[in-house]
Amino acid sequence: MKNPVEKTLLELEAKGLKRSLTIVESATGPRVTIEGKDTLLMCSNDYLSLANHPRVKEAAIKAIEKYGVGSGASRLTSGTMTPHIELEEKIKEFKKTEAALVFNSGYNANTGLIPSLIAKHGYVFSDKLNHASITDGCLLSRATLKRYPHSDTRALEELLNEAGNADKLIVTDGVFSMDGDMARLREIIELADRYNSTVLVDDAHGVGVLGESGRGSLEHLGITHSSVIQMGTLGKAIGTFGAYATGSKKLKELLMNKMRPFIYTTSLPPAICAAAIAAIDVMQKEPWRRKKVVQNAAVVREALNKQGFDTLKSSTQIIPVVIGDAEKTMAVSRKLLTRGLFVQGIRPPTVPENSSRLRLTVTAGHTDEDIEFAIKTLKEVLREEGL
Ligand SMILES: *Cc1c(COP(=O)(O)O)cnc(C)c1O
Repeated sequence: MKNPVEKTLLELEAKGLKRSLTIVESATGPRVTIEGKDTLLMCSNDYLSLANHPRVKEAAIKAIEKYGVGSGASRLTSGTMTPHIELEEKIKEFKKTEAALVFNSGYNANTGLIPSLIAKHGYVFSDKLNHASITDGCLLSRATLKRYPHSDTRALEELLNEAGNADKLIVTDGVFSMDGDMARLREIIELADRYNSTVLVDDAHGVGVLGESGRGSLEHLGITHSSVIQMGTLGKAIGTFGAYATGSKKLKELLMNKMRPFIYTTSLPPAICAAAIAAIDVMQKEPWRRKKVVQNAAVVREALNKQGFDTLKSSTQIIPVVIGDAEKTMAVSRKLLTRGLFVQGIRPPTVPENSSRLRLTVTAGHTDEDIEFAIKTLKEVLREEGL
């Protein structure tokens, strides 16, 4: 008899789904050191290349000198420090909303926001391709969970209709993290208005990149709908760590009182808040970063499509290259790494069965030469592997 730990690991191995860690030995950025070798990195979410930006680092160092490293307590005890408030002010001003509240991570945010917005007798509607943290938040809420087929607003409408007068929450990624396409937010918001539902948009991959001022998916689509609750992360385009929600002052008050991952955890280190403020500032002052991401994405997508590779409905900096088989995907990823290009393979349960893929991401720091090298290397390796 094998113990449960070994049994699970053996099952994963048999299915080609056992995961392991790749170690980055340098600061993250467009190029990194892996196994002592200079490697082009194309699977990071540091979209604006701010994680190692001198101004962002300087802000963190100064804050460490002034405030130390840890906050020492949760937000509601003695863990609210000046940088937390300054970061919330900065986000509020940047997102042009009434209020903002900061959390320790996007995962934390979703597992707390959803149960704060919908409870046991309510209904929560979630796109099937939403991030795992959204699914977990839905389950924790104990509301009836209705998952609708990806971006199928007709199916969503049927489900909303069936829910009758119950409390409702629709939750969706703004940009889908593994497919790189955008939610049909205009239709979703219209349905929400018609069926009296709250809307929560997780803009982890939209904020900083999309929209004229980097405000994210809603700005990109020209939607100014003040009642939409937006969540975003600071660990991706903003290059640091943490997450936030924006909405009304009343919403903020509710979350401060009800949201367990806000209440029952030590607050973000003050230096991370200071770094995030600096990163948002750089993002606002350097719109070329957004433009470069969009341009790099267009070049890569076009080149792959021209070669007949399936990039699904990607329209953003996230570009999936669907391979299908899990083991084959990992073999391709390993081979790319030996040629100096790191693109992680993504397998179930992160993506649906038989849709294992390379999840390529481009950043502002990738030069035209980097992009050219990546396209050439991808073409070579995919061909060699008979794809
Ligand atoms: C990354 C991600 C999260 C989690 O954010 P973290 O800050 O990394 O915990 C949540 N939602 C989506 C859509 C994401 O891609």
